[in-house]
Amino acid sequence: MVWINSFFLFGGLALDLPVFSSPQPVPSLSASGSADSRQHLLDWDLQTLKHWMVEKGQPAFRAKQVLHWVYQRRATEFAEMTDLPKQLREDLALAFVVYRCEQADGVCSPDGTDKLLIRLSDGGEVECVLLRDGSRRSICVSSQVGCAMGCVFCASGLDGVDRNLTRGEILEQMLRLQARLESDQRLSHIVMMGMGEPLANLDSVLSALEVARSAEGLGISPRRVTISTVGLPAAIDRLSQAGVPYNLAVSLHAPNDALRSQLVPVNKKIGIDAILDASDRYFAANGRRLTFEYVLLGGVNDSDECAMQLASLLRRRTVMLNVIPYNLVSGLPYKTPSASSISRFKEILINGGINVMFRQRKGSEIDAACGQLRRNRRPK
Ligand code: SF4
Repeated sequence: MVWINSFFLFGGLALDLPVFSSPQPVPSLSASGSADSRQHLLDWDLQTLKHWMVEKGQPAFRAKQVLHWVYQRRATEFAEMTDLPKQLREDLALAFVVYRCEQADGVCSPDGTDKLLIRLSDGGEVECVLLRDGSRRSICVSSQVGCAMGCVFCASGLDGVDRNLTRGEILEQMLRLQARLESDQRLSHIVMMGMGEPLANLDSVLSALEVARSAEGLGISPRRVTISTVGLPAAIDRLSQAGVPYNLAVSLHAPNDALRSQLVPVNKKIGIDAILDASDRYFAANGRRLTFEYVLLGGVNDSDECAMQLASLLRRRTVMLNVIPYNLVSGLPYKTPSASSISRFKEILINGGINVMFRQRKGSEIDAACGQLRRNRRPK
């Protein structure tokens, strides 16, 4: 999705795992190129790890100790877990890895934004971002390698989708970003708004977020977690049924189906009405104010007519509208809107009674639009 400020479109329970298995196992290659058959610890929840401990003749409480080291004490190696018996640390290191991915690249912006390119064990690459803003320490995390939604202005979707990320790969992004903070600082907000469509990988996203919000995990309130979507009604309904009050951010980008289907091709099969209906059901179930995102593309969706149609769509709803002036993406033909069209768009929405925020871009020095870092490294 496309990068914005403290909510960043850049380009969202324990769903119990099967006992002793990791979801969507992805083969890992060691430095020598041979397959590493060890499990990604972050794919394992407390319960399954307890079973593993008991099978190894260990008390079940050791599982909690291990996860405490990983999520709260930021350990990345079992050797660091000095209150575990030495033999157990060795057994764990034979069976698991804490981090299964590697950092392929990383850039820091003077405004406090860090962006990481994470290489997965099968060679795929995703991006994630840490944003420091006052006391906030927000992260934006990817959910898929690439994206199938095909938004025409987004670098992440240019090559389609390769695969869903596992729960462990989503959590590893969070932990790698948390590790960039001073030891007395904690992550405060999570936005599932990186590469991919989170609702197209809902099981893994919810499973990772359960860890993020649990006291034994990262301890982040669900009210500080935002799940972004282009609007997949059936998945929005599933999210409602999960019963956790995450914030939902729907990327609208156009006020009518003709224009939206050009900008967000998946819209042809869905339509704005179905998305708004599903969003209304989410609001009714969770009581969380909805957020709509609108990337403002110069000369495309920034006309007075678009602003009036948008106001009319949202007027009777309890929503926040985030308008994000487009970040230029190399190789794409879209333009940043002019200052006068931004100002006019804003005026029409405010006069139309819409609760609207125009987001400043952060991290623009570091290719912060989603997918750009990944894309810039590829041969042209
Ligand atoms: S849904 Fe996919 S293609 Fe659309 S902006 Fe987000 S990451 Fe990019």
